[in-house]
Amino acid sequence: MLPIIKKSLANGEHPIAKHFHFKKKKIFYGPMGAEKTLHLISELETLTAFIQQDPPAEPIELLAYKPARDKRKIGECNNESELASRLVSYPCKLIEDPIEILDDLKWDRYNIIAYDEVQFGPSSILKLIDIVDMHPNLYLVIAALNLNFRGEPYPLSDFKTTMIDVLRKFSYEEMEPLHAICNVCGLTGATHTQRAQIENGAINASPYWDPLHKLGGSEVHVNEQGKADIYQARHVWEFEAPGKDTWVLLEQMFKHYGANGQPVSVQQVLENSRVSPELFNTIVRGRFVDEKILRIQGDKAEYIRQY
Ligand SMILES: [Zn+2]
Repeated sequence: MLPIIKKSLANGEHPIAKHFHFKKKKIFYGPMGAEKTLHLISELETLTAFIQQDPPAEPIELLAYKPARDKRKIGECNNESELASRLVSYPCKLIEDPIEILDDLKWDRYNIIAYDEVQFGPSSILKLIDIVDMHPNLYLVIAALNLNFRGEPYPLSDFKTTMIDVLRKFSYEEMEPLHAICNVCGLTGATHTQRAQIENGAINASPYWDPLHKLGGSEVHVNEQGKADIYQARHVWEFEAPGKDTWVLLEQMFKHYGANGQPVSVQQVLENSRVSPELFNTIVRGRFVDEKILRIQGDKAEYIRQY
């Protein structure tokens, strides 16, 4: 049971409501390169300046967090304990679960909670948002990639919900969509994050069934075959998801054959699809298992997708 503190929300008595642009909660979202973290830090610094100018009767707590990411899967870039944009950084705490934030709150005063990279943390962020909504002295500002490199809502780390479920918790006024400069045409307004491979100078969009998390970002990783993964911001009309039709066909087949609750024979799906055994293996043993879409035991598979 959380403590309930009665605070007056009447105009003029509320130290944060006086700050015109600061809402009860807010989400910055957009593609890579849209400066989401910079906006998040700017929100905290504006508020700090405001507090210094006009100190409230009770102190205000500023708390900043981001998910402690799985280094084996996502890489070590930007994993230091700070919210880092290209221009500025802000100290933060790495947490496994947003619910841990509750332990740091000072329940007798106002708390401003900042949480970056929501898409790398678990679905319990939804619970935290509900708690913030109920408590007059809690404020929340978060930032996230809303779409993954496939152009679809980013699933949260436990694969139970996606960024769509997070965005649904915010009203229109509480959402701040951000855009990036498009790496293809150079114009602003890019909404999508494209993953691509550079090979002999050519840039090819990565296949739809590529792993969800891969090293990349600002750093370029070149493998033994001379291929490097990169990320680009693109408009939706320049965005590509090659192989999506093959993936959708396979998923529909697993769903169809498993409709009566019976485990599906992996061999049966392979025989009925026109996908080569090598490609089938890459897709089924890779993405289907990684993202908890299928549970595979021997030659049987069970469709278990939750998000
Ligand atoms: Zn463009």
